[in-house]
Amino acid sequence: MNPLGIYIHIPYCLHKCGYCDFNSHPESREESEIYVSALLSEIKHYAHKLGRLTVPTVFFGGGTPTLLPPASLDKILGNIKLNFHLNEDCEISIEANPATIKQETLKQIRSSGFNRISIGVQSFDLDELKLLERVHDIEEIHSTVDRARLAGFDNLSLDLMSGLPGQLPEKWHSHLQQALDKKPEHISAYGLTIEPATSFFKLQERGLLTLPPEETQLEMFQVTIDTLQSAGYEQYEISNFSRPGFECKHNLNYWDNGEYLGLGAGASSYLDGERFKNINLPSRYIREVQVKGSAVESTEKLEPMHAMGETIMLGLRRLKGIPIEEFEKRFQVSFKNVYGKVIDPLLNEGLITFNQNQMALSRKGLFIADSVILKFLA
Ligand code: SF4
Repeated sequence: MNPLGIYIHIPYCLHKCGYCDFNSHPESREESEIYVSALLSEIKHYAHKLGRLTVPTVFFGGGTPTLLPPASLDKILGNIKLNFHLNEDCEISIEANPATIKQETLKQIRSSGFNRISIGVQSFDLDELKLLERVHDIEEIHSTVDRARLAGFDNLSLDLMSGLPGQLPEKWHSHLQQALDKKPEHISAYGLTIEPATSFFKLQERGLLTLPPEETQLEMFQVTIDTLQSAGYEQYEISNFSRPGFECKHNLNYWDNGEYLGLGAGASSYLDGERFKNINLPSRYIREVQVKGSAVESTEKLEPMHAMGETIMLGLRRLKGIPIEEFEKRFQVSFKNVYGKVIDPLLNEGLITFNQNQMALSRKGLFIADSVILKFLA
């Protein structure tokens, strides 16, 4: 079996942000203790089933993983190390919310082995943070980054969000500048999207929340690329930028449609051509793991056409695009035979670049990436 990335989902948050459609639930001290025990059982279950596989990346996401006590995070990571073979240079990331993390916690998680931290900043404007229903303030952003550095994190990422209601490109530019002042190794800059079942969706339906017009959103995307590139960051994925050598390896594996094992409530896995997903609700996840050792809710075997479509959908998000030869070897097909009819019009419109080795979005295609990708899924 190939090396695989491990994802650990910690589903608790202090407060549900207005735009959030992740699997996050109100913090519960009592439940989270049992949740950690369930995670340990699930780790053991898969180690037994899959063998002691080589693991190049581990990612603790959420939710808010830093709501767990450092001792619990240490226990979970320790169990992964015990049951799998982590590469010597294994990238071990943790997501952190500025409102939840103390200096002592940062020191402890760094010494447990976490070597990359991703801090959910979103905005440097207090009104915008309130609008997003984030629970941190500006001071907490600065202190969290400074404390993370003091704790020894030399691979640090900041998450920012553009296209907020009423936001102008100048304001967005100032957020990027303030993020750059913190000298992070990596920046993720996503545009706000309104997802069903969020409180933002309901507000939008009632006409109480309006996103900036599409041209303004595109202008902000252009500002992102120009500002970060001229500061020496490489855009290696549509919304992700890094200093050379600091791309997020864990996410690169997703975009390469590589294999991964997701543990915890709602986590998804992709193994042996099969996609499977755990039960979302933490209490149900816990019960299921206690009885069966795992908590899979749905499984899907990907048909070749589906798997190829997904590989293109994910691969085109990377700026370097899709390696054609690798794709053909993996799926035993001629790329041109399968996708020739899709490629030609996109080439004529200048939306993609294509040669024997690589297919990628052009600069023009980057701005309408979703609609270009859709053509390959039709
Ligand atoms: S902190 Fe993140 S996971 Fe938690 S509610 Fe906010 S956006 Fe969702």
